[in-house]
Amino acid sequence: MKKILLLAIATGLLSFTTVKVPADQNVKEKSELDCNYGQCRATAKSTGNQCMHCVSNSGDFYCYQHK
Ligand SMILES: [Zn+2]
Repeated sequence: MKKILLLAIATGLLSFTTVKVPADQNVKEKSELDCNYGQCRATAKSTGNQCMHCVSNSGDFYCYQHK
């Protein structure tokens, strides 16, 4: 009986770890770029993704290319 109880606990721990995965992905998105003031919010025409430049001044939303 003890083995069954241990198995149940192990299964519970495994499902708990699975639930945690999305939280790790959120952290990854937040630290995409290491910018002093933040990342440019414009969309790059060539790729369709967010511009990968950093803004040059505090309070700016766009990099020097997208102003
Ligand atoms: Zn930009």
